[in-house]
Amino acid sequence: MNYRQADLPPIVLSIAGHDPTGGAGITQDAAVIRWSGCYPLTVPTALTIQDTRGVKGVIPVEPAWFREQLRCVTDDLAPDVIKIGMLGTGEIAKEVLHFLETQDRPVVLDPVLSSSDGEPLVDVIEPIEELYSHVSLITPNLPEAEYLAGRGLLTADEIDEAGWLLMERGVQAVLIKGGHRQDKPDDVLFWEEGQVIIEGDWIEGPEVHGTGCALSSLIACKLAKGDALDEAVAASKKILAQKLGQATPLGLGRALLTW
Ligand code: PLP
Repeated sequence: MNYRQADLPPIVLSIAGHDPTGGAGITQDAAVIRWSGCYPLTVPTALTIQDTRGVKGVIPVEPAWFREQLRCVTDDLAPDVIKIGMLGTGEIAKEVLHFLETQDRPVVLDPVLSSSDGEPLVDVIEPIEELYSHVSLITPNLPEAEYLAGRGLLTADEIDEAGWLLMERGVQAVLIKGGHRQDKPDDVLFWEEGQVIIEGDWIEGPEVHGTGCALSSLIACKLAKGDALDEAVAASKKILAQKLGQATPLGLGRALLTW
């Protein structure tokens, strides 16, 4: 039973890995969610050993333990939107699938495959694809979109085809992020209303950690507050661009976003 009053903040559940730097994963998600005026729930899929220079190790949460965390917290606090990041293993992805089958909430899936320094953050990909029919928005960067679509994406036309292909496979909307593009860092949103290009500019500054986690959390919060998908995505990209311009090299490696 939930006793939430209408004036309380929307609840956003982050299912993701733990990054002890706080630059990515559930810790950053929680910071972004609070910054956005929502209330975070965090259910970790895995613990990582990492610093701002990269990931050194990953240990998944035991699946039964993960299932019990999810059940326990969501029996008590009902999320308005669910954001999924690093899944770690196919077994955890299957637990997420069973959980999503019980939920009727918008789901934002950031299909994290590896860290920027190349460390795999999920062991098998097929269980991620099984989540598609429950996903309101999937937010791959270009390499992730290439992997999921199973083809190289060099041109704008190839990006368009991949976006529609992922829609055909069952997700409700796709945001292919442009940060790895050669031409211009424009994101492309594919959704029920068609295709929208969200223009971006290259931002001067150090390399930054955890941008994908931040963007998907920002979008999840905008959806939780009732924004339409295209507005949520465009506004979130603007916020991220502003934060990227202020990213701070607090450690020895990549800069971190501060919230
Ligand atoms: N660690 C965790 C726990 C993450 O969830 C992610 C990304 O989602 C990363 C590391 C990777 O971040 P980056 O792409 O900045 O290396």
